[in-house]
Amino acid sequence: MIDVLTEDFRQTPYWWDAAPPEPAAAAIPEATDVAIIGSGYTGLCCAIELAGHGVGTVVLEAGDLGAGASTRSGGMVTGGQKLVVSGATHGIAPERRARLLEDAHESLAMLEQRIADYRLDAEYERYGRLILAHIPRHYERLVRWAELLRRAGSAVSLLSREALAGEVGGTRYHGGLLIEDYGGLHPAKYHRALRRAACDRGAVLASHAAVGAIRRLAEGFEVVTGRGVLRARSVVVGTNGYTGPLIPHLQRRVVPVTAYVIATEPLPPGLPEKLIPHRRMLSDTKRQLYWIRLSPDGTRMIFGARPHLVDTDTQTAARSMHGMLAGVWPELADVRISHCWTGNVAMSVDHLPHMGVHDGIHYALGCNGSGVAMMSYLGQQTARKILGTQNRPCAFDSADFPPFPLYRGWPWFVPLVAAWRRLRDKLESR
Ligand SMILES: Cc1cc2nc3c(=O)[nH]c(=O)nc-3n(C[C@H](O)[C@H](O)[C@H](O)COP(=O)(O)OP(=O)(O)OC[C@H]3O[C@@H](n4cnc5c(N)ncnc54)[C@H](O)[C@@H]3O)c2cc1C
Repeated sequence: MIDVLTEDFRQTPYWWDAAPPEPAAAAIPEATDVAIIGSGYTGLCCAIELAGHGVGTVVLEAGDLGAGASTRSGGMVTGGQKLVVSGATHGIAPERRARLLEDAHESLAMLEQRIADYRLDAEYERYGRLILAHIPRHYERLVRWAELLRRAGSAVSLLSREALAGEVGGTRYHGGLLIEDYGGLHPAKYHRALRRAACDRGAVLASHAAVGAIRRLAEGFEVVTGRGVLRARSVVVGTNGYTGPLIPHLQRRVVPVTAYVIATEPLPPGLPEKLIPHRRMLSDTKRQLYWIRLSPDGTRMIFGARPHLVDTDTQTAARSMHGMLAGVWPELADVRISHCWTGNVAMSVDHLPHMGVHDGIHYALGCNGSGVAMMSYLGQQTARKILGTQNRPCAFDSADFPPFPLYRGWPWFVPLVAAWRRLRDKLESR
């Protein structure tokens, strides 16, 4: 039997082939204005804004720069539509909901502006997102979402099963919802470009500098890292799905969930264009995590899911996900998997991202799997808050950041939630 994994199968992100995370041996200074913990999009966008205003900025990263989710993601760029379709904004007072959606739209606009202004090499394009009805009944759900999204200011259109033929080759789906204001990029190239932009503006980026403690001083903070101690007037935490016990208050508010991604070997010529002719970012209406896109060069399928209820090794995950992908397109049954990797998504109880201040320490966390634009934005907003240059408070800046009940750092309930989602998918498919 032919192995579905290529001979040179890698357990690192496909994105790292072109732009791997980097070490940065910069000495940690004794003092700075702002110490930022975490070198993902949150930390870097915060650093770019601060350093660009002449503020002393040091980014402290436990691993290589970019070791976290920012170089591992699907690179799909939303202007907040997920907040609407996930129900996160449901039940929120209309005025606050409008402000949240305004900021979410703004996050996409700012990402596009940042890429254009700084000429970032991120392979960004507005491909559009297509949500596919998994069963006939789910088309009604798409109609409802279309209405909500239109009211929230998104450019959307509904596609019948027949109209899908021009969008998804050989589809077994039952209609779709196309969101136009939705992009895709190369997440690790975007990260590398942000690293360069932060350095160009004078920020110090220090890798392998895990922060083990933050002590309050009469003025400011003492930040204890594995490579030295730093005094800072302000501290920003941007650790998202890698938030550990450093600040238990924050740890109890974001649960890390492991997500799995595979990349195929290059597809036979003509097949990518046949399967996803307009290179849309695809997902479906199942409750289980399930998204598919083409690589920015249009040659490979990139597919994200959580194939098993409990965490597993990447080879096992890759084999299971190969079967799932071939279930969508039988044409892919003979295409092998070249990469499989994992990353941590940070879930919050209310499915909203949050920024704020706890005990004098700034934070921006909780992307719920949609953080390319949003965490870039919240990093920048946190910097503006410190600088005092915000035009208005960010809508995601709220003291109301609920903890997960019965959670102290061991996400025991994640397999149960996954099982419940699968069961509901199965029951609905009957
Ligand atoms: C598999 C996967 C697919 C995704 N797909 C998408 C997508 O398609 N679209 C989208 O919008 N979003 C997606 N996301 C979410 C998105 O990647 C994240 O929201 C975003 O990258 C978070 O950025 P961040 O800077 O907040 O955190 P990260 O990039 O995770 O960075 C946090 C960093 O903090 C460091 N750290 C933690 N503790 C310490 C400490 N004590 N000291 C020093 N450093 C520390 C970590 O090492 C890590 O590097 C995906 C996430 C995953 C995991």
